Amino acid sequence: MKNWKITVNDLPAEGRDFSFTDPEFWAERLVAHHVDAKPVQEVQTEISVQPQSGGALVRGTLRGSVQLRCDRCAERFEIPVQASIELFETLPKEGEPEEDSRLQLVDDALVLDLGSLLWEEFVLSLPVKPLCNEQCKGICPKCGQNFNEGSCDCARDEGDPRLAVFRDLKLK
Ligand SMILES: [Zn+2]
Ligand SMILES: [Zn+2]
Repeated sequence: MKNWKITVNDLPAEGRDFSFTDPEFWAERLVAHHVDAKPVQEVQTEISVQPQSGGALVRGTLRGSVQLRCDRCAERFEIPVQASIELFETLPKEGEPEEDSRLQLVDDALVLDLGSLLWEEFVLSLPVKPLCNEQCKGICPKCGQNFNEGSCDCARDEGDPRLAVFRDLKLK
């Protein structure tokens, strides 16, 4: 898997700009992390990394668009991906697990895992509960009818499932 690691010590004091557009990078990670999203417009990143005492300042943007699956009706829909990044990355503190840190000391050099950082920002920019539309009516749990396109007979008969217990009482 591509990792986009940067040796911070090699950067000039004013920092350096990086621009990554690599569909393969996103495709590999989406599969590896089981994220049900398909890039539609290439995800572009413009990032500047500046060495600072004790760490590195990472600033930039992430842009593109992806296709997600609606949480209610399961239809695919497209949304823009946009994130502004402004982070100060430091070495893991005493007692912190080193593998969780995106900045590590490797042979006396500070190495920043920019790939992991960008991937995390990408995932954070996606909605937790993706909806094709705030008003999405979802689908019938019985027959799968998409209520955005029309109704079905089972929906009419069942009514509110929370009231089913009262309907049963009346029958006895
Ligand atoms: Zn929907
Ligand atoms: Zn139905």
